[in-house]
Amino acid sequence: MYRECPLRFEKWYRKHERPALESKHYAVFGSVIQKIFEKFYNDQMYLRGASVQQDLLDMAPIALDHYLRDNYVDWCTPFFEGTPDDTLADIKATIPSVLQAIKDFKLLGQRNRSELKVQAPLGEDTLEGYLDFVIERDGEIIIVDGKGGQKKGKYVSSDQLKFYVLLYFMKYHQVPTKVAFLWYRFAEVLDTGALNTAPMWDDVLWTPADLKRLQSEIVGVLNGIKLGCFEPKPKPKTCEYCVYAKDIQTCRPYIAMKLARKARSDARKSAVALYDKGANGDVILR
Ligand code: SF4
Repeated sequence: MYRECPLRFEKWYRKHERPALESKHYAVFGSVIQKIFEKFYNDQMYLRGASVQQDLLDMAPIALDHYLRDNYVDWCTPFFEGTPDDTLADIKATIPSVLQAIKDFKLLGQRNRSELKVQAPLGEDTLEGYLDFVIERDGEIIIVDGKGGQKKGKYVSSDQLKFYVLLYFMKYHQVPTKVAFLWYRFAEVLDTGALNTAPMWDDVLWTPADLKRLQSEIVGVLNGIKLGCFEPKPKPKTCEYCVYAKDIQTCRPYIAMKLARKARSDARKSAVALYDKGANGDVILR
């Protein structure tokens, strides 16, 4: 978060100035699926054989209830269409796809862990991350990050997984052999009724240069925090869902950016109104 906007980081993590009721509607689906498969791995439910799918389906309403008990969800948030029943149906419909993906991508090994907390020292600081799934299988180390989004790529950066590679290496002195995103919603139902899980899987490739770059960026971030640099960095993508965006006192740069964008867009529209384009692309003044 610091890289995206130091001010947002400062308010959220250092000052803990958080809205009393921040709706977590955007995370319901992904968090509940994640919780279910965390139990699948950490409680070794995969050893149950044929009953496992039904057991996971039975767990879905309980996991959803727990999420709703611990998090505030505004079901009427603009552009978010959903009800608890729809969401539960969606979660249940997704469980077989994730089970199929686990089979297809061989995500069970001699050692399987979920929500693994990894900490590694960097100078006088400690880096920390929670890895969704870590599978050790026949000498391979596979790190998988589950994603519940409806669109691939939106709000997801491959740097997240590259950071996990770096963290894992710093902690265990071993390099993961495979890292990937697993997109829960992206299985296709074929005409035969079978599931095609290929679209669920996105490998993340990395090089030693990526890890060096990340490490130096992390050092830069840590130095920025220590020096108290918390300048806002307004960008449409970062600010869109920032809880501080509506706070005019806190975030004047965001408001200024919006006004400047509007002025540019108005100027473009009035310039377009002054001319037409001819059939051959020539500009014809009105
Ligand atoms: S609205 Fe934008 S600039 Fe302001 S704190 Fe949030 S992310 Fe930073």
